[in-house]
Amino acid sequence: MTSVDLSMNTRTAAARRTVLISGASIAGPALAYWLRRSGHTVTVVEKAGALRGGGYPIDIRGTATEVVRRMGIWPRLRDAHIDLRRFTFLDADGSTVASVDGRAAAGATAGAERQDLEVRRGDLAEVLHALVRDDVEFLFRDSIDTLDQSGHGVDVTFRSGRQRTFDLVVGADGMHSATRNSLFGPEERFHRHLGQCFAVFTMPNAFGLSRELMMWNTPGRAAALYATGGDELHAFLTFHRPRPPLAARRDPDAGRALVAAVFADAGWEVPAMVEALRGADDLFFDTAGQIRMPHWSSGRVVLVGDAAYAPSFLTGQGSSLALVGAYVLAHSLAAHRDPAAALTAYEHGVREFVTLNQALVDNGGATLFPTTAEALERRNTMLRGLDAMPSATTRPAHSALTLPEFAPAP
Ligand SMILES: Cc1cc2nc3c(=O)[nH]c(=O)nc-3n(C[C@H](O)[C@H](O)[C@H](O)COP(=O)(O)OP(=O)(O)OC[C@H]3O[C@@H](n4cnc5c(N)ncnc54)[C@H](O)[C@@H]3O)c2cc1C
Repeated sequence: MTSVDLSMNTRTAAARRTVLISGASIAGPALAYWLRRSGHTVTVVEKAGALRGGGYPIDIRGTATEVVRRMGIWPRLRDAHIDLRRFTFLDADGSTVASVDGRAAAGATAGAERQDLEVRRGDLAEVLHALVRDDVEFLFRDSIDTLDQSGHGVDVTFRSGRQRTFDLVVGADGMHSATRNSLFGPEERFHRHLGQCFAVFTMPNAFGLSRELMMWNTPGRAAALYATGGDELHAFLTFHRPRPPLAARRDPDAGRALVAAVFADAGWEVPAMVEALRGADDLFFDTAGQIRMPHWSSGRVVLVGDAAYAPSFLTGQGSSLALVGAYVLAHSLAAHRDPAAALTAYEHGVREFVTLNQALVDNGGATLFPTTAEALERRNTMLRGLDAMPSATTRPAHSALTLPEFAPAP
């Protein structure tokens, strides 16, 4: 795949455009950083009252590592890298199927610069926010109510009642994007359910685990405990569901009840996990799914990150796509005075990369969670033959885009 071919005086094209970004997680603040650098005036509106922590640790791989290097945050993220030492797979009764070295998975080789990073999702969100908070207006506990593109810009009415006009609006509001909903229609049109639901939350580390991941499996169910260091323990429960349980996704108590029912007879430490789930205040419950859209923009409103092309946790590429998409969108906007040309360039620049990464679920990237006894046995046989998790050194999809250069910062 080739690089995005854009070479203009980026700050001239930006000409102090005003941009509203909806969503302050990964894609939103990353985009804000690059837009500020090319002279845009940026406002970010976030539905939550503050930056949201929580979630399972995320990976930054391939092309995305180049984005964070160019942002100057590589050293901080490297310090936050989890450095998983061991990955242990368990049977239904909790006995060990295989135990493999976790470090090779991150591409670490003696003396070499680490290729990939794995950090707490909240750490990445904080680092990105810290980078832009002094230069960008953040409106927490608010959201877009209506968008009107009939005038010269986009007239926005916020839920709080305030009204403003922007040159461009960006939906970085995640897989269940309200921006996408209002512009392109209901999520069902673009959502591809991948058959799994998952619940993620933190619980006390009463098991003495340290920088290791233990995963229990039965056909169609998995439970994992991920000790990222210190007292922190990330619990992850996932199970097969051919159709997305919409009520459970929208109502946290219904989500808790569904998970408890699915894992009612489970062994190992799963009963303790289900008990912790009942009291967890950072529960993230969702379905594993992808967003696939024919276009990511309409007029002066455009989508980035999960809102446009969520790849699902099964690819491990959600945050990496968000970082790369934000970079290419900002670059396209900086390089083209005409917003329509910029948004076309954005799609052109990143679509193939998105497609390759979303296809990881079809290319065997989802083998961690087999749904039949036969498939689980095949996976276990494969794991027993491994000393280490497969190295990240040959991952064409993750590294398939060469980034265009921004003009040097002023
Ligand atoms: C708290 C949290 C925990 C997560 N945990 C996991 C996990 O365990 N596993 C996993 O695979 N993915 C998880 N994700 C999703 C993951 O962060 C993304 O897949 C990836 O990082 C791409 O990020 P994004 O910025 O595009 O979207 P997201 O990270 O989903 O961020 C969207 C942001 O938009 C905000 N938002 C939503 N609706 C509105 C609205 N109407 N107006 C304003 N703001 C809005 C949200 O509060 C959020 O801050 C989590 C996301 C969050 C917010």
